[in-house]
Amino acid sequence: MKYMHKVTVDELVANIHSRWLEQYPEDKPHIAQALEVLAPPTKDEIDRIIGNSSWTRLACEECERDVERLVYVGETITYEQSPVGLCADCLDAAVKLMVSE
Ligand SMILES: [Zn+2]
Repeated sequence: MKYMHKVTVDELVANIHSRWLEQYPEDKPHIAQALEVLAPPTKDEIDRIIGNSSWTRLACEECERDVERLVYVGETITYEQSPVGLCADCLDAAVKLMVSE
């Protein structure tokens, strides 16, 4: 198995400060500072500080619903070729497809 792993919204929320610094090590220090003092961080507070919900949302790439957890498959090689995140229902449907006649 090369890459398959699970990501949850709870993890996105809990790790917001380190994720932000990874993407913006020097830019937008006021946002980094506001995120750092959240104890504990919540989805609503993060969305308000950043100004949108893109950092705390997970959307399945098959059914396009917002979900609480995704399993990612595929390896990150370039920005054009990124892992695909699938929800439990779509993974279930994939297994049914696999075992169907
Ligand atoms: Zn799905």
